[in-house]
Amino acid sequence: MTPPPLVHLNLRVRGLTPSATVAINERSNRLRAEGREVFKLGLGQSPFPVPAPVVEALRDHAAERDYLAVRGLAQLREAIADYQRRVHGVVRTADDVLVAPGSKELMFLLQLVYYGELVIPTPAWVSYAPQAQIVGRTVRLAPTEASRDWKLGADELDALCLEDPGRPRVLVLNYPSNPTGCSYQIDELQALAEVARRHDVVVLSDEIYGELHHKGEHVSIASLYPEGTIISGGLSKWCGAGGWRLGAFVFPPELRRLLEAMESVASETYTSTSAPIQYAAVAAFRGGLALERYLWRARRILRALADALLVRVRALEVRVAEPVGGFYLFLDFSSHAKALAARGIRYDTELCERLLEETGVAILPGSSFGRGPLELTARLAYVDFDGARALAAAEALPADAPIDKAFVERYCDRTIAAADRLCGWLGR
Ligand code: PLP
Repeated sequence: MTPPPLVHLNLRVRGLTPSATVAINERSNRLRAEGREVFKLGLGQSPFPVPAPVVEALRDHAAERDYLAVRGLAQLREAIADYQRRVHGVVRTADDVLVAPGSKELMFLLQLVYYGELVIPTPAWVSYAPQAQIVGRTVRLAPTEASRDWKLGADELDALCLEDPGRPRVLVLNYPSNPTGCSYQIDELQALAEVARRHDVVVLSDEIYGELHHKGEHVSIASLYPEGTIISGGLSKWCGAGGWRLGAFVFPPELRRLLEAMESVASETYTSTSAPIQYAAVAAFRGGLALERYLWRARRILRALADALLVRVRALEVRVAEPVGGFYLFLDFSSHAKALAARGIRYDTELCERLLEETGVAILPGSSFGRGPLELTARLAYVDFDGARALAAAEALPADAPIDKAFVERYCDRTIAAADRLCGWLGR
């Protein structure tokens, strides 16, 4: 007989389960521990190692032991402000920057201190909506369409704002997008910026994949709507350092009070971000030739791999928008709905579970990203390969040599093998 509980647990947050990405990772690990071969295309972790100059900077500062300022190390905030000026032409100072253990934490703090409605175009990254649920914030999901590359149109934002004009709002714009890999063109950003300005919408511009734009052509909406945009970024994706936990928000001076409110909450919760990691991050944001080379190669490998995967899935008439950045494909299996139903698969969750059980390929259902489970969508993260080996091979190529099909079949072998298994399973 189970003993009665000692304490009656009265949880304030009900109905929350661990984040879907974390759950699939744990499930994949369990299958691996049972001796099964698992292809990890579920968790969105960069395949590439942390660039050598950044690792060296961490080594040099391993003995840093003091608590740092809540806002972050002054040198790092300066480096991040410089980076924004250099890369996006957005003029900011160290006083506009707030550093934290991950941008995810900052998004949570923002939702905690800001009382407006959160507008989230879907499909969207898995954690925005659950964070809002935790703090009891209202969320307005704005479904986007495959035919528009899953992007929110300025007309749609305008219509949404006109439903209740004057209501304070934060629009979360994530580009290049997790989970679609799509991004906004400058004219689309311009149109969104105009609508946001007209309706006084704060834009939280989640640019964590900005440096992984496959052509290095990321444009920030902050350059078009500087007074109302908070830029969110960090080391997790482009620097391959998710586990280091370093993120930053860059605010316009107009929103300084928001920064200060978040800083107060930070001081009572995480205190400050790891000191050695902040010193190392200075090297990452200052950039330099070695980092440029690293990024140039990483982007070309991701581009070539995306192309090889598109050819495979499109041959089976799986619909997918062409990604322009990051490392995700958002697959739409609805053209196979009948055949899948005949195999007892009606929901996207069933599709992903059966695929994992029967082939060892882990991908995430679109319903984790705010889409309907009957739409039969799923996110594939093309990251299961040895990124260090692939980068070294790219480095050994002559500068003008292409990174082609043969290259990715050789160096991104596990991801290619996983795609082949997925296609074989689907075509069965
Ligand atoms: N935003 C998006 C779109 C992400 O995909 C992620 C991580 O997966 C984050 C934010 C959080 O990143 P961080 O590691 O800085 O907390």
